[in-house]
Amino acid sequence: MAMVTPASQAQREAWTSGGFPEVERVRPGLWSIPVPLPAIPLRYVLVYALELPGGVAIIDAGWNTDEAYGALAAGLKVAGYEMTDVKAVLVTHIHPDHYGLAGRIREVSGAWIGLHPADSRLLRDRYDDDAVDTLVAQERALLVRSGVPGATLDELAGASMMIRHYVTMARPDRLIEDGDRLDLPGWDLQAVWTPGHSPGHLCFVERGRRLLFSGDHVLAKITPIVAVHPQSAPNPLADYLEALAVVRKFDVDEVLPAHEYRFLELAERVDHVMAHHEERLAEIEAAVGAAGGITCWDTATRLTWSRPWETIPSFMRRAANNETLAHLVWLEARGRLRRVPGEPDLWYPA
Ligand SMILES: [Zn+2]
Ligand SMILES: [Zn+2]
Repeated sequence: MAMVTPASQAQREAWTSGGFPEVERVRPGLWSIPVPLPAIPLRYVLVYALELPGGVAIIDAGWNTDEAYGALAAGLKVAGYEMTDVKAVLVTHIHPDHYGLAGRIREVSGAWIGLHPADSRLLRDRYDDDAVDTLVAQERALLVRSGVPGATLDELAGASMMIRHYVTMARPDRLIEDGDRLDLPGWDLQAVWTPGHSPGHLCFVERGRRLLFSGDHVLAKITPIVAVHPQSAPNPLADYLEALAVVRKFDVDEVLPAHEYRFLELAERVDHVMAHHEERLAEIEAAVGAAGGITCWDTATRLTWSRPWETIPSFMRRAANNETLAHLVWLEARGRLRRVPGEPDLWYPA
């Protein structure tokens, strides 16, 4: 398996040993601040602080817990700043571990929050208490069409609702579009729309310093979840693969992701992730071919996962189902599989 070179051995060491990395100065005026994530295997999100005259802009925020707030404040202090010095919060995407704390930071600092419009549009349905029942019902309908067994349906449909509590519902002050140049003195930062993992995912390229802030789009070892769900685009895997090709062209020296650790080889890593999806597509096409008339759920149970299917907890099984569906939809769009709609949908070779 192709491996990328870590930009910081200490940070890689912290990731692989199950520890927690230090605050690091990545470049003059640029800091990496790990913010803890409770109870999930990712363990922390890497927030980047970019020094400005009289303050900092940060990329991503962490989720809304006192522990995360405290870690971010302590990290900023190492860089010589207070939470009140934050002028801008650029959020790569709507997920709680990136967006959750943004509103609270704005409250204390007056910072503006920036988000892509495609993610901003999802905020109400995702995080408003009135709208959440609708979202759960839509998820349930999707799982029925996937062929999830009745006994586990309700459990799976509500599976990620607990995570909502780590978010304050903060509307962005600015919508950041593809290609926008962020007006941050001393920085040449341009937004790159990279949908797939979420509909409005953004990366930020810094051409002068030859850096890519990659959010969850490209990571050193893991591949982000790309799944069909009620708030996804119709064919999120097509969006994702296209957006991988977009960032692959950037001539940068270092990739600064939101999890794990920084690394050097962008193009090689992108090629590897693309190859991973090609393999997965072939595996899924073969599984459908062997069965002929199979549900998404049954397809998912026949694939290789990082651990035996029976031991995968329910919220991860749902993600596995929805990820499988993203691949099925991609194959359908390419004319390699066909779907007979129903409750459940059945998948056949084309
Ligand atoms: Zn994410
Ligand atoms: Zn994330």
